[in-house]
Amino acid sequence: MDWTKGWRNRAWSGLKQDWDVIIIGGGITGAGILRQCVHAGLKVVLFEADDFASGTSSRSSKLVHGGMRYLRNAQFRFTLESVTEREYLLKQGRGLVNRLGFLYTSLPEDRMPSWVFGAGLTIYDLMAHQWSHRSYDSEDMRELCPIISIPGLRGGFRFFDANTDDARLVLRLLRESLVHDNALALNYARVDSLLKTNNGNVCGVVVRDASGESDQEAEVKGRVVINATGAWADKLRADIGKAPRLRPLRGSHLVFPPNRLPLTRAVTFMHPADGRAVFAIPWEGVVIFGTTDVDQGSDLMTDPAISENEADYLLSGLQKVFPAQELTFADVSATYSGIRPVVDTGKANPSKESREHVLWDENGLLTVSGGKLTTFRIMARDALKAVRRHLGHIPFDREIPVLDAIPPEAEAACSNSNLSPTQCLRLLARYGSESESLFTATRADLQLVEGTVYLWAELRQAARNEGVVHLDDLLLRRVRLGLLVPNGGLEQMARIRSIVQPELGWDDVRWQKEEKSYSELWQASYSIR
Ligand SMILES: Cc1cc2nc3c(=O)[nH]c(=O)nc-3n(C[C@H](O)[C@H](O)[C@H](O)COP(=O)(O)OP(=O)(O)OC[C@H]3O[C@@H](n4cnc5c(N)ncnc54)[C@H](O)[C@@H]3O)c2cc1C
Repeated sequence: MDWTKGWRNRAWSGLKQDWDVIIIGGGITGAGILRQCVHAGLKVVLFEADDFASGTSSRSSKLVHGGMRYLRNAQFRFTLESVTEREYLLKQGRGLVNRLGFLYTSLPEDRMPSWVFGAGLTIYDLMAHQWSHRSYDSEDMRELCPIISIPGLRGGFRFFDANTDDARLVLRLLRESLVHDNALALNYARVDSLLKTNNGNVCGVVVRDASGESDQEAEVKGRVVINATGAWADKLRADIGKAPRLRPLRGSHLVFPPNRLPLTRAVTFMHPADGRAVFAIPWEGVVIFGTTDVDQGSDLMTDPAISENEADYLLSGLQKVFPAQELTFADVSATYSGIRPVVDTGKANPSKESREHVLWDENGLLTVSGGKLTTFRIMARDALKAVRRHLGHIPFDREIPVLDAIPPEAEAACSNSNLSPTQCLRLLARYGSESESLFTATRADLQLVEGTVYLWAELRQAARNEGVVHLDDLLLRRVRLGLLVPNGGLEQMARIRSIVQPELGWDDVRWQKEEKSYSELWQASYSIR
């Protein structure tokens, strides 16, 4: 199914059939499982209550990484799996998943001696069959990153991990699944309750249109129902009488424009306040700095926001390492927060809770939660194995790549365009087989949105073809202007409107309503306030 005009009505009218698998949740976990099910030839439908990737999967630190901190907690298998996935995704998603250099900065107050970090990096490199880290003294460090101006700097290490655009990774997985006739994915479709057989086994869902555009509701039957609702997973489990098992932890980031925090590689250090690793990461032309790790409690809102304490904690860390930058809250161009789905083992320190994923098979409801963006493929494979236990043998070729190859026509269109090789690679990797029309866009559309790496053509493409229901879908997840430009892009709204309004077919009243809601959402959950 494509996402062109009228697609939602077509999707709703196609729901009444018996599905092999129903997936609830359209983040990276749900999208990864959808992809695996499609490859296995299953008939599969995915429901997302809000927008695709609007949960935690658009609010991560954007790293595709092994995670040095897991080594510190002696989680060797988890780190190895993550490192292996990183290397796989770097090859498969070239241009969407990119290698990124890191500098680990050893501070005078570090509780952990820096040789321990070096030993960890040796293991890290060995896991990836490479040798890419090296140590530096304080003078080298200052040469490599002149803005690290902390007095008493001890030196540090260089190493490599990778980063991505989390929401675009989810969208690419979804789009490439939906070209197959046996798959359907619907955003703004909330699963309100589970259907059960007489003996209490889950056999379907009751789903309701949550777009605000209609009051459609449907009972949808499936042979297997998968709960991939991340931090919200306990809510559906309550419907089959299961006690909560998750501990939702909020993580927040500050975003800085590049002129205030000019970094060409990521910088990581142990926060002097609590010894946790924090990261300043160059991403899409800005620098994101995070993250925190605090209990969210039971209030699992769709759009969490950074608290004053978290903002103070993050800013004080930056001020310590980059004192000459004299950073203040006035320099922060945006913020964002997400909620980690973490299994509750009752640890006093939230950061000590394991980040490994879980799979629970309860009354026919398969819950897949926890884990990381990086390990989505492993989670999806485990989910498929569990589906097999319910449905019997499913032919499945482990060698099928998780992302489709870029079609030669798109590559050719890209070489014939006036775009640079870097821009071409970026677009091919984000839009896959749908990138072709971008290369033949009008001259005006091929201009960059000021201060960003985005083309105006990407906004048009997203509005036309990418299942946008509300303005925040477009500005926070299809293109990420809400995180990248001052005031979430409100100052560029006239040009955004001229491109997007006709594509979406919204009248002026609808546009004004959408612009107002977006502005309120951005102020409440994406600004420093
Ligand atoms: C601050 C932070 C930084 C992180 N950084 C990294 C990182 O750098 N690298 C990394 O690998 N991992 C990182 N992670 C972890 C990673 O982001 C998460 O593990 C991952 O995004 C979780 O994906 P998910 O699909 O399970 O959950 P989500 O993305 O939250 O998706 C669940 C979806 O289910 C939907 N839903 C809920 N209830 C219903 C319902 N009733 N009906 C239909 N849909 C419903 C929600 O709207 C939501 O979109 C980070 C996490 C946080 C919080």
